Amino acid sequence: MTETVVRRVAIVGGGLVGMLAAIYFANRGWQVTVFEFRKDSRQLEDTALLSNRSINLALSVRGLNALKKPGLGLHEQVLGSVIPMKGRMLHLDKGRLVSHPYGVFGECINSIDRAQLLKLLLDTAEELANVKILFEHQLKYCDFDSGVLVFENHSNGSEVSQTTDLIIGADGAYSTVRSQLMRPVRMNFQQEYIPHAYCELNIPPVTDADGRSKFAMDPNHLHIWPRHSFMMIALPNTNKSFTCTLFMPFEEFEAIKTENDLMSFFQKHFPDSIPLMGAQNLKEEYFRNPKGPMMSIKCTPYNYKERAIIIGDAAHCMVPFYGQGMNCGFEDVFLLNDFLDKFNVDDTKDTNEFRESLDRALNAYTERRHTDAAAICDLAMRNYIEMRSDVVKPLYIIRKRIEGA
Ligand code: FAD
Repeated sequence: MTETVVRRVAIVGGGLVGMLAAIYFANRGWQVTVFEFRKDSRQLEDTALLSNRSINLALSVRGLNALKKPGLGLHEQVLGSVIPMKGRMLHLDKGRLVSHPYGVFGECINSIDRAQLLKLLLDTAEELANVKILFEHQLKYCDFDSGVLVFENHSNGSEVSQTTDLIIGADGAYSTVRSQLMRPVRMNFQQEYIPHAYCELNIPPVTDADGRSKFAMDPNHLHIWPRHSFMMIALPNTNKSFTCTLFMPFEEFEAIKTENDLMSFFQKHFPDSIPLMGAQNLKEEYFRNPKGPMMSIKCTPYNYKERAIIIGDAAHCMVPFYGQGMNCGFEDVFLLNDFLDKFNVDDTKDTNEFRESLDRALNAYTERRHTDAAAICDLAMRNYIEMRSDVVKPLYIIRKRIEGA
């Protein structure tokens, strides 16, 4: 009688990408354990401040395709809670509005609430019998050859260790798995902080004459206030508010020290946004909210033999101007699964056969994925210049008019 073998995967990081990976591997029949450093975000009141990340995200076809595959209705549920954005709405200097559609066939990107998306992935994974999620577990150390990981359990200060067949590092831009992989895989690594920071602000809903809550601007656009060396953008939320993100050099943020400085700056550069935000709200949000750094990371290879692999921001962190960081991480999961299929990684095969096919699959994935991921990191960097400056250049506007004609 043949013994049933269950392959184990330990996923470090229960963010968006780690949780989608958990669902895919559970679907393949693996025993999945996710170790997440933070508390369970579903139990916290202010998830946005906890994550120190954008409140909403642009979800594109790249990410949506990856949500289709596990066949658990994720794609449908997500589409039910997004707001489609069919183009950019430029807020020019004198308050003039210009719409640039994303395509001639109604192509769009979709605004989605980060906390809500993460909740959906956590809830879906938790319902699967072969997934276990351990919160407040921070990876301290892993030994790739033996498959042993050591965590600190922050809820009681204890040390927890686990042995696994495969380690997936989905632990974000400051990945511990990546830093431990560097030496054994002789990783080439490139990291660049840009001189700009971001700060989130808010445009609340307005109330119409009948007392109904409404969006203060057209919700089906990604709004941009391009000001050449800096910019502000706004994405709609389902509660009819907008989350604005102001991107500009750290020195410009540091030069705004008082409420008067802030109001003069906004009156000069974004006057039409003040009545939308409300002066008091703007002051409170600006001085309360963090000014986050942004960086780009490229590295290769992503895997150590058949033992470990990094995905998502751990493998390729990009500046947010192309709106593709999460989308690309979701695509990593989709492609990784595809490579396991292509290389016949069959968890029921004997251990040697299983390990050899997994080794081939992970090597092939790394080789193929790195070129594309590095290209998207470059495109993201390039798109900042397009969004904050090129979009208002006459030639760009003429080209857009011709494309839209
Ligand atoms: P993370 O979201 O960083 O998750 C990593 C997880 O690992 C975290 O939960 C962390 O707590 C955990 N962790 C870290 N270290 C350890 C450890 N040692 N042990 C255990 N757990 C650990 N992307 C888009 O596609 N569209 C957008 O519109 C978009 N907008 C953005 C706007 C801004 C301002 C920013 C900053 C980013 C934006 N992104 C966008 C990028 C997107 O946020 C990231 O690409 C995405 O969150 C990456 O997901 P991840 O799961 O790989 O990493």
